[in-house]
Amino acid sequence: MIYFRLYIGILFFLFGATIGSFLNVLIYRIPKKEDFVKTRSHCMKCGYQLEWYDLVPIFSWLFLGGKCRKCKTKLSAQYPLIEALNGVMYVLNFVLFGLSITTLLYCGLFSALIALSVIDFRTYEIPVGFNVFILVLGAIRVITDYHNWPEYVIGLVSVSVPLLLIFYATKGKGIGGGDVKLMGAVGLLIGWKLVVLAFFLGCLLGSVIHVARMKISGESHVLAMGPYLSAGIMIACIWGEKLISLYINYLNGLMAS
Ligand SMILES: [Zn+2]
Repeated sequence: MIYFRLYIGILFFLFGATIGSFLNVLIYRIPKKEDFVKTRSHCMKCGYQLEWYDLVPIFSWLFLGGKCRKCKTKLSAQYPLIEALNGVMYVLNFVLFGLSITTLLYCGLFSALIALSVIDFRTYEIPVGFNVFILVLGAIRVITDYHNWPEYVIGLVSVSVPLLLIFYATKGKGIGGGDVKLMGAVGLLIGWKLVVLAFFLGCLLGSVIHVARMKISGESHVLAMGPYLSAGIMIACIWGEKLISLYINYLNGLMAS
């Protein structure tokens, strides 16, 4: 049984790394409005069209020493890192939630979050396609767990509606429209408890890390919230139930004393 789990775990990693390689394509092509289905992968410098053996996740990059096969231009370490990160996230979901619909939905969610974080970090924009994709995952969640539908429907509005009010009150300066949609779609998928926790964690991470970055590297005051919200969402998906029950136990302890 342990070998079977190990075997499935390895499959999850390989599948995750392969999807990660597709995420790299999305990350580079969506902001440039390039076609990400028909155009073949090529070197950004010399235009060398990558063969299948140049496209094996992680390994190709390592084997080529992080350089283009033809012109030897350095290829960003972002490629293998995104592939490895996505692979690890898939394994983590499998370890936590087994072979389940939750695992399937969360793998999709995590991949979307990884790609939109990098794009938001660079362009200050979350492409709407990612939010539509997460919304579809949310709809699947509601259909497959319809006994708990209020949990998810409240999740759709619990964070996004207050954010929408901030968005209108500050004329889009306080929060980005993409962030509002993200928290709505994610809320439908993970439910109101986890999305509230995710938003809280995201703001906490955002304020701490962004202030540190502004101090250390003179980072501009413009803040892309996407990466921080995404990190908060991932933590909420992975440890949220535990964090919430710890908190409830703590409150009960306070009341008893
Ligand atoms: Zn090249």
